[in-house]
Amino acid sequence: MVNIEKPNTWRKYKKGLCDTCMASCCTLLVEVTTDDMIRLGYTSEWEVDNDLKSLVKSLKKQKIIKRFNDKSKKFLLESLSNGDCQFLNSERRCIVYENRPDVCRKHPEKLSSKIGFCPYLKKVN
Ligand code: SF4
Ligand code: SF4
Repeated sequence: MVNIEKPNTWRKYKKGLCDTCMASCCTLLVEVTTDDMIRLGYTSEWEVDNDLKSLVKSLKKQKIIKRFNDKSKKFLLESLSNGDCQFLNSERRCIVYENRPDVCRKHPEKLSSKIGFCPYLKKVN
């Protein structure tokens, strides 16, 4: 049985698998870069370079991010109360798909806790 938290239970990914999946990978933590945040429309290059402290404070206040990691320079996105990504709609579709973070584009073939594997769970109805 697949457990989202346990990569050793994940299933081997193959093309087309996402079509019948409940988008369970969108319940994993999402760490994004400043480029991702700019593409998502939350900030600008200028703000990142000149006023990062205020930006982080404001994004936390708006519940867009949980925290900013000074070392990796990555933002951890806030999730919904059920653990889903804030950009996953009730039909389990990504509402920012065109501008989705790099980590989402690379998962699971290039970036994953277990490369080439993902927490596939069949969509109900
Ligand atoms: S868990 Fe796997 S199959 Fe499901 S949406 Fe994510 S990448 Fe696709
Ligand atoms: S940004 Fe979109 S693809 Fe990435 S985790 Fe959130 S809902 Fe899923």
